[in-house]
Amino acid sequence: MALDPDRYSVLTFVERIDFSEDLAVFRLRAPEPVEFTPGQYATIGLVEDDADRPLLRPYSVASAPGSTDLEFFIERVDEGDLTPRLWDLKPGAEVWMRKKVVGRFVLDTDCRYHVMAATVTGVGPYVSIARHQQRLLDAGELDTPHRFLILHGASRSWELGTYYDELSELARTTEWFDYVPTVSRPWEDPEWDGERGRVEDVLRKHVDAASFPLDETAAYTCGHPKMIDKAQGILERSGLPEDAIHEEKYFVER
Ligand SMILES: Cc1cc2nc3c(=O)[nH]c(=O)nc-3n(C[C@H](O)[C@H](O)[C@H](O)COP(=O)(O)OP(=O)(O)OC[C@H]3O[C@@H](n4cnc5c(N)ncnc54)[C@H](O)[C@@H]3O)c2cc1C
Repeated sequence: MALDPDRYSVLTFVERIDFSEDLAVFRLRAPEPVEFTPGQYATIGLVEDDADRPLLRPYSVASAPGSTDLEFFIERVDEGDLTPRLWDLKPGAEVWMRKKVVGRFVLDTDCRYHVMAATVTGVGPYVSIARHQQRLLDAGELDTPHRFLILHGASRSWELGTYYDELSELARTTEWFDYVPTVSRPWEDPEWDGERGRVEDVLRKHVDAASFPLDETAAYTCGHPKMIDKAQGILERSGLPEDAIHEEKYFVER
């Protein structure tokens, strides 16, 4: 079967960079630059000749808009339909993508301050937002940067992947960005000397320490539904109104 070429593009799988057995960055190349608002997701997947329907799933785009190179931070779900097949792809393979990159999990530009909480792959939208802001600043197209605090949780530090280095460097070199990586299984990661615990365990402490003005602050939670449900209450108790808290749940727990 084939998909409607007016609605779908064929991307080329370029490479997979593994952070662990089940976490990797996928780089794909589109035939033309892909425009979207940072934070949105693309619907990508495989179309097999003998299948009666395409195997498509939503993935947050981690790259900045306007490029033919697309980046996705993906977790392999062993019992899942699509992700084990993505891990089998060889460079050059075809991956389909719905042309419209969509979603409402984007920067709330009415606010200047942004608290962003992610479990592992849920950092993808924030990476796109931060990379885009850095580009706008570099191009002289933005005078006053938005202020970001990103909390990024994983079981072990290597699961934070190359985003750990990139976001730590951004925090070191800019005034507008803070990054708090946190590891929930430090006993499996004895060299880790950063924050310990799940995102929701350390969120309140870092929100309080940042002292962002509440009436100019938006919060975002992305990834695992359990973190999102817990963080919602924590953020509300820290004084943020419910409508200032945005969420992107990656799956529903069975
Ligand atoms: C808006 C949006 C953006 C998303 N962005 C990303 C992203 O950037 N990176 C990413 O890795 N995933 C992302 N997801 C999840 C992704 O769309 C798929 O659900 C996931 O990759 C599993 O696909 P699958 O076909 O392998 O498993 P499926 O066959 O679809 O699912 C099998 C079962 O596993 C559960 N499941 C799905 N994901 C997980 C998980 N991570 N951990 C445990 N159980 C799970 C499902 O609820 C289902 O019960 C996003 C989801 C949404 C809704």
